[in-house]
Amino acid sequence: MTSQEGPANEARAAGAPSTAQFDLTGATALVTGAGRGIGRGIALALASAGADVAVNDFADEAACAAVVAEIEALGRSGLVVMGDVTDEGQVNAMVERAETELGQLSVVVNNAGITRDNVVMMMDPADFDAVVATHLRGTFLVSKAAARRMFRRRTGCIINLSSVVGRRGNAGQANYAAAKAGIIGLTKSLAKELGARGVRVNAVAPGYIDTPMTQALPQETRQMIVDATPLKSIGTTDDVAMAVLYLASPAARFVTGVTLPVDGGLGI
Ligand code: NDP
Repeated sequence: MTSQEGPANEARAAGAPSTAQFDLTGATALVTGAGRGIGRGIALALASAGADVAVNDFADEAACAAVVAEIEALGRSGLVVMGDVTDEGQVNAMVERAETELGQLSVVVNNAGITRDNVVMMMDPADFDAVVATHLRGTFLVSKAAARRMFRRRTGCIINLSSVVGRRGNAGQANYAAAKAGIIGLTKSLAKELGARGVRVNAVAPGYIDTPMTQALPQETRQMIVDATPLKSIGTTDDVAMAVLYLASPAARFVTGVTLPVDGGLGI
């Protein structure tokens, strides 16, 4: 059999969809909170699929530079755009810089996040505000800056990181759950505002993923999560990145306003 033969080519010849629809060649993406964890995984997945990627983070510039080096090793262009997603001026400046130095943004991923866990009765209001500001205000500000550009250009997509906790709630994480549930409402609303202009807005809702955010959990808590997950494991950053890649790609051209669980069944 030659490389021109085989099932995939036979399927294409028969008019079946092509996996080329997952190709992001020519796309420019911005991923917030991408110096490590899930954001880093998403940035590398988008670059692997052909996108140039602006890598945002709050404090760790060296980590972002390392991610950009990995993007460049994949043959794509990368750019570090440091900034706090809760600060409107910094958000507007980083979106502007990404577009000037890398290209018009066609994919924006709102991934930056923090946790400040406690039961409501003991929770410091400052910890409630910080979590809601980073996740919900941050997603709003970055989406607003990107949406104004995508609306004018009649193309683009925004992907927001929600969580199984936003869908189900979690004792000790009311601030995080409220913010992640808010992101689902923000995603649906923005999808309705932008759909007529061809701009798609979706969310992913990971379950427990092995990252620095969850490595801090005690071993018995991690085991309880595995036991409660139908697929009996903790997820990887690649699991989330592949879902984001799908939503970012032309393969999802008719998908908007959804929240895609990537949780091993934990949220069922
Ligand atoms: P990490 O804590 O590993 O990474 C979060 C990143 O966000 C860090 O690089 C951090 O930067 C950055 N960040 C925090 N605050 C800001 C800010 N104000 N402006 C810009 N960047 C900021 O988290 P994960 O990779 O685990 O999580 C990524 C996303 O996925 C989050 O939204 C999280 O809620 C969500 N999620 C994670 C799950 C999990 O199991 N890990 C499950 C479900 C959802 P710095 O280090 O500089 O502070």
